[in-house]
Amino acid sequence: MELKVLLRSFFHDLLFPEQKCLLCEKPIARHTTDVSHHLSQMKDICMTCKEQMEIPPFPYCHHCHKPLDHVASTKINQSSDPYLCLDCQYQSNHTIVMNRSAVLYNEFMKDSIALYKYRGKESLSIVFSRLLKLAYDQYYQNVSIDVITYVPLHPNRLQERSFNQAEQLAMGLSRMIGIPVVNSLERVKETHKQSKSGKWERFSEIENAFQVKEQIIGQIQGKTILMIDDIYTTGATLNECAKVLAHSGASKVYTLTLARA
Ligand SMILES: [Zn+2]
Ligand SMILES: [Zn+2]
Repeated sequence: MELKVLLRSFFHDLLFPEQKCLLCEKPIARHTTDVSHHLSQMKDICMTCKEQMEIPPFPYCHHCHKPLDHVASTKINQSSDPYLCLDCQYQSNHTIVMNRSAVLYNEFMKDSIALYKYRGKESLSIVFSRLLKLAYDQYYQNVSIDVITYVPLHPNRLQERSFNQAEQLAMGLSRMIGIPVVNSLERVKETHKQSKSGKWERFSEIENAFQVKEQIIGQIQGKTILMIDDIYTTGATLNECAKVLAHSGASKVYTLTLARA
């Protein structure tokens, strides 16, 4: 190739760098029509990836953000809120005020989160924190949150993985919305990695797995807390964390998770 041509392409690339998708690393085509929902604000994610991210569609459970098939058709009694899923109707002693999730835990998110958590692609935390920020803007604008906290890993798990995904996401969100993060909890009981146990066994398995760090009690007493985690499955873990926070004097605990299973 001629030197002139080489130089021209070098300066062209320097001036107009090809933007790559933060998720799949493929070049982002310019001037394409975008998806209509609020993920369109994520300019550094390609269309193909964006189209595979699903925002929990309406109607959804007011409490846990699970998409509902039919409003009201599954009420356990006349007085039940038609916008509560069956789990939330049966289990009415929630400590969590409500959960909201940025996207659904579909195959695409499963692969992306696995890449992040188990294969150490930490750069994905930028994308995921931004997804949390969009969900925060959508669902928590009118809630006055005092502090952010996150679900801790057991020290053994932390050592094996080298970072806590929930902590990274909480930090990322905190930088964008200016609400401080408090490292409030420690995991004192190890639980199974991929729990094969049923929904209700999961609740008893996780019992007493967390403790509030004594030195931070003053920072959570009387406070409204937003707790962060990557995936909401049964809600057992988040609910247990919320319980110990409430025991130590937290006023209200809301949760925001990246993906809703
Ligand atoms: Zn992509
Ligand atoms: Zn629910």
